[in-house]
Amino acid sequence: MKLRIYLADLTHTGLGTATEAFPLNIGLVASYCLKNFKNDVEIKLFKFPEDLKKSIDEKKPHLLGCSNYSWNCNLSYHFANYVKSIDKSIVTVFGGTNYPYDIYNQKLFHKKRPNLDIHTFYEGEKSFSKIVETMLSNIGNVKKIFEKPIPGCQFLNKEGQLICGEKLQRIKLLNEIPSPYVSGLLDKFFYDKLSILVETARGCPFKCNFCNAGDAYYNKVNQFSNEYVEDEFTYIAKKSNKHDVRHVTLADNNFGMIPRDAKTAELIYSLKQKYNWPKSVTVWTGKNSKERVIDATKLLGDTINISMSVQSMDPKVLEKISRSNIKLDHYKAIAKELSNQGRPEHAEVIIPLPGETFETHVKGLSELIDTDISRVEVHTLQMLHGTPYADDKKYLEKYGYQYKSRLVPLDFGKYNNDYVFDYELAGVATKSFSFKDYIESRKLTLIINLCFNGYTFNPIKKYILSNDLRRSDWIKYIYKNMDKFDASINDIFESFVSESKSELWDSEEELINNYSNEQNYQKLVKGEAGGNVTYKHMAWIFAEKSQILIDDICEFSKKFIKSSAKITDSIDDEMNEIKKYIKCITSDSFKFTNSLEVNKKFKFKYDILSWLKTGDKIKLKDFYNKDSLIINFEYDQDQLDVKRDAINRYGNNMSGTVKLIQRVGGIHRFHRKAAII
Ligand code: SF4
Repeated sequence: MKLRIYLADLTHTGLGTATEAFPLNIGLVASYCLKNFKNDVEIKLFKFPEDLKKSIDEKKPHLLGCSNYSWNCNLSYHFANYVKSIDKSIVTVFGGTNYPYDIYNQKLFHKKRPNLDIHTFYEGEKSFSKIVETMLSNIGNVKKIFEKPIPGCQFLNKEGQLICGEKLQRIKLLNEIPSPYVSGLLDKFFYDKLSILVETARGCPFKCNFCNAGDAYYNKVNQFSNEYVEDEFTYIAKKSNKHDVRHVTLADNNFGMIPRDAKTAELIYSLKQKYNWPKSVTVWTGKNSKERVIDATKLLGDTINISMSVQSMDPKVLEKISRSNIKLDHYKAIAKELSNQGRPEHAEVIIPLPGETFETHVKGLSELIDTDISRVEVHTLQMLHGTPYADDKKYLEKYGYQYKSRLVPLDFGKYNNDYVFDYELAGVATKSFSFKDYIESRKLTLIINLCFNGYTFNPIKKYILSNDLRRSDWIKYIYKNMDKFDASINDIFESFVSESKSELWDSEEELINNYSNEQNYQKLVKGEAGGNVTYKHMAWIFAEKSQILIDDICEFSKKFIKSSAKITDSIDDEMNEIKKYIKCITSDSFKFTNSLEVNKKFKFKYDILSWLKTGDKIKLKDFYNKDSLIINFEYDQDQLDVKRDAINRYGNNMSGTVKLIQRVGGIHRFHRKAAII
């Protein structure tokens, strides 16, 4: 009899598919295991809880292995409980990054989860195979499995002691793991239209202390070979083309940093020409070698979004988190170059980091906004296991951290009549950054998302520069005038502040008790709570109040420019044209009906399109056209396809719009394309 193994990288399904990525992790673990024990095991892979439950009910496994991340830990444990309720001898195993690195916290992790037998530690392929090896040599005698330590694994023995197997070396030549794509192991997930996840290299040379990849164990970067990567990508491209799967994410921590990545970019480009895949690529690019990243990814143009994460711009904060960023001048030059090439790039910042104050935070955001970066994102600190933020109380005391429990967006569901929620610890204040600062930062972030990110107000951004003003001052001006927006938008701002507070719970028990009340649970199902609060409110404003938003922002911008610019007489006329242009490109952005008017034509007094292509200081008045010109605003076929795909995938409602904005690469993908006729 073969050892029956079910491996699950589960996603919640309470409101659609919460995590859309292919379950590459369990694919790799399964692939390595099959290589070693082909004739002795049968392995089934799962992404959806409903499928896993059905298979368990039809035929119980000998071993259930589940991934463990902050977004699915409790869902995985729900199934550990479920199989143990059927048969205590089913061995339950977890593997993943949501696991502490120190013995004290590892023991606590197990004590809290008595139905979890074993947790693998660090890289999963070898350690999982060690579990299988142990089980195969003890068939029919589960107790014996726990008599000796298992390399790369940890478990509690009968006496409640944590038994730690020896630490396994990482796999240096990653080709030792056969590709789970090429072998067909992941084929069934193409039918679910999940989003492709690929790994070409593993490890990170940096040591950021908020990230579990910063641990010394992962410091060396190991690679899959060129041939492996080529075979895998080609296989995926052919399949994706057939199943209309559009997007790919590279799991690599620093894409573009190793010389081989340029080849991978070339490969992706050639596959795009041949198979029309991928439509878009998400990568986390290298932190320091930005020129190399730009060079490596040049061919992919705006298909790829370059991340220019900084986390903080304050040198003292960076020192405290063991991170070094590139110099600001250098950063500016790179952002300018990417902007000239028409390539999107975004900066990411985390709050609150040790030693950050509201002033240093706003100063850092201002510096970023005044580069040519196209998007600035601010994230709340997730206090992850494997970092001092989740596992070192003294560290938290030192910086006076306050933290709350927060549902990971959309990570909830009802399975076997049980409510299951996955949540994270969110840092919301420190000694130097109060909770009030946290809320103010979120308000400022919402304004940045509405006005600065997403290209909608690009003509105003350029107009500000052409009047010798700073874009950061413009953003701060609008932020300070938030209460002067139209009442209908102000109501949404108030809802934003209120939900930014109400999504936070003092303890996990409070969070669970609240959402386990059927009435409150229904709020999650309807998308009224439990999503990404910033994206939800941004989508709400853009989907339902975009015309009022444009009126208001243009009005504030006019006032800001008039209060600071030297020449003000032509501002009204020019800003009216800019407003008209913005309304045209955004017309029907979130309308998904078949009756959509694909082309719309309007007369303009200024050649805004030519002006937008000029340098920062060039004035719009130089593009006045006394005869006027006609601009056509059109949706191309690709955009219409994306819209159709989005309705099928996410639904034509608010939470669908939120997912769409988050996952399709930004609002600008739904702007009409403008051309003079
Ligand atoms: S560079 Fe990125 S992956 Fe590496 S340690 Fe820092 S945050 Fe983590």
